Amino acid sequence: MSTAGNQQDSSDLAWKQALSIAITQPEQLLEYLNLPSTWLEPAKAASKLFPLKVPLGFANRIEKANPNDPLLKQILPLAAELIQTPGYSADPLQEQASNPIPGLLHKYHGRVLLIATGICAVNCRYCFRREFPYQDNNPGSKGWDKALEYIKSDSSITEVILSGGDPLLLSDKPLQNLLDKMAEICHVKTVRFHTRLPIVLPERITDSFIELLRNSRLNPVIVLHCNHPNEIDAQVSQVLSKLKAAGITLLNQAVLLAGVNDDLEAQVALQQKLFENGVLPYYLHMLDKVQGSAHFFVSEAKAKQLIFEMTQRLPGYLVPKLAREVAGMGSKLHL
Ligand code: SF4
Repeated sequence: MSTAGNQQDSSDLAWKQALSIAITQPEQLLEYLNLPSTWLEPAKAASKLFPLKVPLGFANRIEKANPNDPLLKQILPLAAELIQTPGYSADPLQEQASNPIPGLLHKYHGRVLLIATGICAVNCRYCFRREFPYQDNNPGSKGWDKALEYIKSDSSITEVILSGGDPLLLSDKPLQNLLDKMAEICHVKTVRFHTRLPIVLPERITDSFIELLRNSRLNPVIVLHCNHPNEIDAQVSQVLSKLKAAGITLLNQAVLLAGVNDDLEAQVALQQKLFENGVLPYYLHMLDKVQGSAHFFVSEAKAKQLIFEMTQRLPGYLVPKLAREVAGMGSKLHL
């Protein structure tokens, strides 16, 4: 095995270790955060539908004994998730219908989305893919050949979006292989990562990962997923500045969530903190109506008012685009 290969393997060790000590048991989370034991039974019931998972570093950013902490609300399984709400479904974006081959979604002109892994470092309770059948749609490195053939056969595809799950949960070696194969397709110019890892598991942004991006022919774009300014601590700031220094375009998409970030002060502080860290706001998404997430719903009228108020407080380039995904539409609906 090459020295470069060994270096990549060892650089994966630290973040894999950090991931291995993620909190996955409701009792562990409640105890760690000094939260009442009355929350245990509902948390256990909800985590049977969608497991609890939160890296320790993210849990450390949650204020202890504060049931209203905006980061806690994103990761704590609640009884509200068990309620079946009319208008909410298992696959709100009908992604399985835009699935030409397993693991590849071709919804938009010029771009395809490749499900690089079926797992995440954190399980966000509002996730629209919480019921997505990853086991049937996770091609794995062997299945990528079919996806790459598809991409090769359509010269209109200039950008490949690596999503998941979280694509940065791939180790450097398979990621390198995938990027190399994509770089051989001359019409592919850009590789975009949709990832929450720089926020929830900053250990993943190793020097060797940054080198891997730097050395690729493809133009790398990282679209983060950060919903609240408290998610950005000193370690996150450090990795964002490394990515920025490496010339990687950094954008953020957030989801508008009741009780988390549906107020002006949180939104203004989020955009300002992102910008201080070299990240531009991209989208503020309306909630995708997946079963179990209705308690996060924010009305369109409230969302529009919030954006209006943000335009009064922030320069235009710090106001994200408010958007909704509509099943079957060739682009997002800008509101
Ligand atoms: S990181 Fe993204 S894909 Fe993963 S659980 Fe959270 S919202 Fe879903």
